[in-house]
Amino acid sequence: MPYACPICGQQTLEDQSGTFVMAVPSGIPGGDIRIADANWQSCSSCAEQIIPDDLSKAIEQVRYRRSGLLSPDQIRQIRARTGLSAVEMAQILGAGDKSYTRWENGKSVQNKATDTLIRLIEQHPELFADINARRSPDRESLIQSYFQSLSTFKGSNHFAIAAHGEPLSSAACESIRRRLLELAGANQT
Ligand SMILES: [Zn+2]
Repeated sequence: MPYACPICGQQTLEDQSGTFVMAVPSGIPGGDIRIADANWQSCSSCAEQIIPDDLSKAIEQVRYRRSGLLSPDQIRQIRARTGLSAVEMAQILGAGDKSYTRWENGKSVQNKATDTLIRLIEQHPELFADINARRSPDRESLIQSYFQSLSTFKGSNHFAIAAHGEPLSSAACESIRRRLLELAGANQT
């Protein structure tokens, strides 16, 4: 039983199921995007296709994968692993909060440079805290006193370990990163 098409108003919108095929512009490798076991609706009058969320998500995953970019879900997962808020993540990336949120929602696509930075944040979150600290020499004394206070932590001086090129434990990195983010926040007010 056909439905009324929301685009042309004709009673010619029908349920479709099977393999959904989406043509992609020539020059994009991999040919048409094909999603098996899909459900959607199409209008035989105006050729409009109504694509449900799960299908559009599946198409999106293929698009991101083919372009070598992190998908919105992957970006969200990386941020969850770092423990950063969306606002903190946007600050580190030098992006606006709204732009960042659109990447997580899949409403826009991050460029390759940003994609690279997000991948680096996943692997080396402490580098970003360090870069922020170097950018703001006026915070130097705060940061120095922080590192000095680390030596009072039982057992070891984390900064001394870092200076000697030994790998920091993930707990030490986490502690340094958190504190530097706090200092960054304190400096802005
Ligand atoms: Zn129509």
